[in-house]
Amino acid sequence: MSAVELNDVVKRYGALEVVHSIKLSVSPGEFVVLVGPSGCGKSTTLRMVAGLEDISDGTISIGGRVVNRVAPKDRDVAMVFQNYALYPHLNVAENIAFGLRVRGEKNDVVEAAVNEAAAILDLMPYLKRKPADLSGGQRQRVAMGRAIVRKPQVFLFDEPLSNLDAKLRTQMRAEIKRLHKRMDVTSIYVTHDQVEAMTLADRIVVMNGGRVEQVGSPMELFLNPANAFVASFLGSPP
Ligand code: ADP
Ligand code: MG
Repeated sequence: MSAVELNDVVKRYGALEVVHSIKLSVSPGEFVVLVGPSGCGKSTTLRMVAGLEDISDGTISIGGRVVNRVAPKDRDVAMVFQNYALYPHLNVAENIAFGLRVRGEKNDVVEAAVNEAAAILDLMPYLKRKPADLSGGQRQRVAMGRAIVRKPQVFLFDEPLSNLDAKLRTQMRAEIKRLHKRMDVTSIYVTHDQVEAMTLADRIVVMNGGRVEQVGSPMELFLNPANAFVASFLGSPP
C-alpha cells in the first residue's frame, strides 16, 4: 500500500488551473522530493496533501484512506514551512508543545514528548528561550520539533531551508535525512533547488507548469532525463 497517493489531482483557482491531473504514489519510508521552478505548483500540491487547500478534482489517499474531506489535523501528517511560523511570545518548549496542548494531551505526556524531541534535535539547552533569541538553524529545529511531537506517518516540508545560509543549509539537510530515518516516516519535500533534491531524495518528482515531467531516482534522472526541460533544469546551477 502507498503511504501517500495522488490520483489525477487537479487544482483550480477560479478559471485558472495551476495543477493538472497529477499522479504520484509514495511508498512507506520513502523520501520524495518535488522539485521545479518557482510557480510550477509544488507548494499547492503539498498543501493539498496537508489539507490546507481543497482539491478541485481527483483523490488523495494517506495510508490507504481517501482524505479529500478529512481535516488537516486528522490526516496524520505534519508540515514544516520555510518561515518557521513560531509563536514569538512562547518559549521553545511551549512552541514545541503547542500542537499537543491544542489536542488536550496531559502535562506529563506533553513534557515527555517535548523532551524527546528536544533531545533528538539538540535543543535541550534552549527550552526556555524565545524564538527571537535563537539562530536561524535553531528556529528551524524548533519548527521540526513541533512536527515530531505529533508522531505523524508523513512529514511534509515546504522549502524549509531556503532562509538559511549555504553552510547551515548543508548541515540541516543531513539532519532532516537523519530525522526521516530515525522517525521511520514517509517524507515529501518541496524545493526549487536541484542540488537539494539530488542530495535528499530517494525519488525526485520534476514539476513544470503544474505537471509532472519525470519521476525517478536522482541517478536515473541525471543519466536519463526524459526531455529537454528535465535535462536543462537539473543541469543548470541553483
Ligand atoms: P511553487 O510552490 O512551485 O512556487 P505554487 O504552488 O505556490 O508554486 O503556485 C502555483 C501557481 O498557482 C502559481 O502560478 C501561483 O501564482 C498560483 N497560485 C497559488 N496560490 C494561489 C491563489 N491562492 N490564488 C490564485 N493563484 C494562486
Ligand atoms: Mg512554493
